[in-house]
Amino acid sequence: MKHTPSTTLFNGPYSESRRDALKTLLSAGALLALSPLSAIPVQRKKDRLGVALVGLGYYSTDLLAPALQQTKNCYLAGIVTGTPSKAESWKKQYNIPDKNIYNYQNFDQVANNPDIDVIYVVLPPSMHKEYVIRAANAGKHVWCEKPMAITAAECQAMIDACNKNKVKLAIGYRLQHEQNTQEYRAIIHQKLLGNVQKVSCGAGYYDSRTTHWKQNKALGGGVLYDMGVYAIQGARMGTGMEPIAVVSARTSTTRPEVYKNGLDETTTATLEFAGGVMADIKTSFGENVNFLDVTCQKGVIKVAPYQAYSGLKVTSPLGEIYHRYQVPFQQAKQMDDDALSIMQGKPMLVPGEEGLRDIRIVEAIYKSAQSGQRVKLA
Ligand code: NAD
Repeated sequence: MKHTPSTTLFNGPYSESRRDALKTLLSAGALLALSPLSAIPVQRKKDRLGVALVGLGYYSTDLLAPALQQTKNCYLAGIVTGTPSKAESWKKQYNIPDKNIYNYQNFDQVANNPDIDVIYVVLPPSMHKEYVIRAANAGKHVWCEKPMAITAAECQAMIDACNKNKVKLAIGYRLQHEQNTQEYRAIIHQKLLGNVQKVSCGAGYYDSRTTHWKQNKALGGGVLYDMGVYAIQGARMGTGMEPIAVVSARTSTTRPEVYKNGLDETTTATLEFAGGVMADIKTSFGENVNFLDVTCQKGVIKVAPYQAYSGLKVTSPLGEIYHRYQVPFQQAKQMDDDALSIMQGKPMLVPGEEGLRDIRIVEAIYKSAQSGQRVKLA
C-alpha cells in the first residue's frame, strides 16, 4: 500500500486573498504547515486521510485492513498493537513505515505524527473509552467500534474529550452507511407504507468460544453489548423513533458454565415508542437469528438477513431491494464516508451521540431484566 502524497495548495508569497482562502481551508479541516526554511505559510490539504488501526484482532485483520486497500478517501497509514510479531507481519504486508507503528505504551506519541489523521479503535469494548480519549487528546479524529463503551457515562466522557480537542468522533455502525438499509429506512421515514405499527428484530449467532472477551464481563462481554446493539438499532431504525421505555426484558443462558456472574447469552426485551408502537428484540450468542420485520399500516417490510457483511435483502409490498456487493464493501464505504465528512468539515453520519443512545438503552434493558420493572428512558 503506497502512501498518498499531500497536495500542496499554497507555496507562494502570502497575500490577502491567499489569507482568505487559507482561512476557508483551515475551517474545512485542512492542515497548516510552516515551512522551516522560509517561514512562508504552506497550506497542505490531504486528498486522503491516514488511518491507524488500534487492536489487530479479527475485525481489523479480516475486514478493516482489506477494506482500507479499497478506500478512496483514506488509507492504512499506521497500526497500534501490543504484539511485536503482528507489528512485523502487518508492516510487511501493508508496507507500513516503522515510524507509524505504535504499541499501547508509546501510542500517545502519535500526536507528533502528521501521517496519521484518524485513530480507529478496534479493541474489546471495555478499552474503548481509554483509547478514544487518548486519541482525542493526541489531536486525532477518532472512529470507534460498536458497542461504543460499557456505560452511558463513559460514552459521554468520550464525546466530551473529542469536543474539547475539536476532533470528530464516529461509531462503526456500518449498516447506517449501507444502501439496502438506507433505502428501507427511507420507506419508513417517508411513510410510503403508512405509519409503523410494530417492529420485531433479532440479531445473534452461535458463539462456540468460552474464554473470548465476549464471554468476559470485565472486558465488555455479554450479548446485549455485542449483538444486542444491532437489535436495538433495528428497533430504532425500524420505528424511526427513540424508545420512551423498556417495558420488560429477560436475560438467560443455556450454558451457565460459560455465561456466569450476570453475563447474558440471550436477551429479549420489549421497547415502547411514542403512540404505543412496540418493538420486540432478541439477541443471542446461543442461536442464529437475523431479521428485521417492520409492520406498517399498508404491509410489512422484511429485512433478512438484517445485519451481515453482504446479502441484505429487503422485501415489502413496494417490491424488493437487493443491492449486491463483495465483502468488505460495507467497511470501505463506512470509512470513505467518514473520511470525506472529516475532510469537508461535515457532521459524521454516525456520531458519538448515536453510540451513546444505544448504550443508554442497553443499561435500561439490563435494569429492567434485573428488577422485573418497566424502565423509563425519555
Ligand atoms: P478480537 O478479540 O478478534 O480482537 C481484539 C483485539 O484487541 C486483539 O488484537 C487483542 O490482542 C487486542 N487486545 C488488547 N488488549 C486486550 C485485552 N486486554 N483483552 C483482549 N484483547 C485485547 O475482537 P474483534 O472481533 O476484532 O472485535 C474488536 C471490536 O470490533 C469490538 O468492539 C467488536 O464489537 C468490534 N467488531 C465490530 C464488527 C462490525 O461488524 N462492526 C465486527 C466484529 C467486531
